[in-house]
Amino acid sequence: MPTLLVTGGAGFIGSALVRHLIADTDYRVVNVDALTYAGNLDSVAEAAESERYTFENVDICDADAVGRLFETVRPDGVIHLAAESHVDRSIDGPAAFVQTNVVGTFTLLEAARRHAAQHEAPVRFLHVSTDEVYGTLGDTGLFTEETPVAPNSPYSATKAASDHLARAYHHTYGLDVVTTNCSNNYGPFQFPEKLLPVVILKAVAGAPIPVYGTGQNVRDWLYVDDHVRALVAAFERGVAGETYNVGGHNEWANLDVVRAVCTLLDEMRPAGAPHADLVTFVTDRPGHDARYAIDASKIGRDLGWTPRETFETGLRKTVQWYLDTPEWTERVLSGAYRMERLGAG
Ligand code: NAD
Repeated sequence: MPTLLVTGGAGFIGSALVRHLIADTDYRVVNVDALTYAGNLDSVAEAAESERYTFENVDICDADAVGRLFETVRPDGVIHLAAESHVDRSIDGPAAFVQTNVVGTFTLLEAARRHAAQHEAPVRFLHVSTDEVYGTLGDTGLFTEETPVAPNSPYSATKAASDHLARAYHHTYGLDVVTTNCSNNYGPFQFPEKLLPVVILKAVAGAPIPVYGTGQNVRDWLYVDDHVRALVAAFERGVAGETYNVGGHNEWANLDVVRAVCTLLDEMRPAGAPHADLVTFVTDRPGHDARYAIDASKIGRDLGWTPRETFETGLRKTVQWYLDTPEWTERVLSGAYRMERLGAG
């Protein structure tokens, strides 16, 4: 049974990956997470009952702790998701993004390289990145793996820097690195600072639903479990040194996404007046990229991956999950999910 280090396994996408690996595969999973505000062990509570799962509260920037982890666990592979991930936070405080996304990725790559050399054992390293490294598109065109990197926010700049390091560790040291660049994810267990959970929770509460600018920014949306399957495909079958774009062929203007959620809520949780009446336009994010869209044909052609969910099915599942699981969100909003792990709750 191969053993995987999954970094950021208490976050939104990482926890979906951990749940999938434990439920549907034979891998042993070591979840490596510093439990920042975005880390929530509630999201892996069921997986944590498996004897194939362990948790390590480690900061990926701590070279000694990461080195010890490689020595004790002797992983066959690393799937690296730990990151600071929220663009707005990167504008308010970029330092944490440089630290975790750049220094943390460097620390992991270095530990993997040393471990592979010392033990003459290959360590496959899947570096999980974002389409935001490519910058912004006009009305037409798609990001391919050949699109030049042109990040516009501190978040995407630090992710691009980490992509470069991952690439360099393959080309210079021969580390077995594969990189994926994925579009916007949505689905259950997403921290309520990102667009979809914000819209759902505000709408259900009857509160104003904030939409940046005129809501015309376009994103390519992918259901989180489809991303997880792409990650497993890239980890298992990706070619070392290659990059794979992952996306849903599913472009939507933000305002249309918000309206689609409101229409679903009108059906699933009627409130008298249409939920879309709550939409409130707010000052746009500085440097807000206009449009992202992914050409995911390479991962389809070479690794046989295609998304399973349509936006209609994925959005319905997501809204249903937030309606059915208020305790998860309540524990996040009240801070209880953090206090308990600090021994205060
Ligand atoms: P998230 O913010 O929900 O989770 C990040 C996780 O990393 C948290 O559990 C946090 O505790 C952990 N973490 C942060 N700093 C750490 C550190 N120094 N050491 C150890 N753990 C640390 O993020 P997400 O949305 O799940 O994204 C996961 C990855 O996927 C990121 O690398 C992100 O760039 C990438 N990505 C995200 C999206 C998206 O739409 N969310 C799209 C494409 C790519």
